[in-house]
Amino acid sequence: MTRIAVYPGTFDPLTNGHVDIVNRATRIFDEIIVAVAESAEKQPHFSADERVAMCRAVFNGLKNVTVERFDALLVDFVKSKNANIILRGLRALSDFDFEFQLAGMNHSMAPDVETVFIPASEATSSISSSIIREIAAMGGDVSLFVPPMVAEKWR
Ligand code: ADP
Repeated sequence: MTRIAVYPGTFDPLTNGHVDIVNRATRIFDEIIVAVAESAEKQPHFSADERVAMCRAVFNGLKNVTVERFDALLVDFVKSKNANIILRGLRALSDFDFEFQLAGMNHSMAPDVETVFIPASEATSSISSSIIREIAAMGGDVSLFVPPMVAEKWR
């Protein structure tokens, strides 16, 4: 069976933590679809088009990774792609409660779809998109935490 994983997120912005998860996932799954959620209710800093463009630019060299935008129920999007895995990254205990609930509810709605977690690497486990947005808004240098083309967006 082809293992097709959907990695959903807001990616506002894409960070080195997300990149690490995708890179490691390429060794486990046949195909990875990075699914950029519209997330209009979160009023993202970057538009969905900009977030998709960032992800496409950064993952361009990985042949089994594609990037798509989505604005549907996640399990419906997963099925529409003939995928069978939802990939999520886990940073700390604080991520666990929400992720566990999300995985449980998605499993109830789509029993054939499994959620798989990859633990954050030590080097990137403290990186969060929301803290990056705060640092950048105050004029701080975020180039330690994001790919160069993402850091460029704030220059
Ligand atoms: P969402 O709005 O769905 O939380 P995010 O873009 O914040 O979207 O995160 C997408 C996924 O990446 C989530 O599974 C999140 O836990 C994971 N993630 C975020 N930052 C990191 C990181 N530094 N290391 C590993 N996984 C991460």
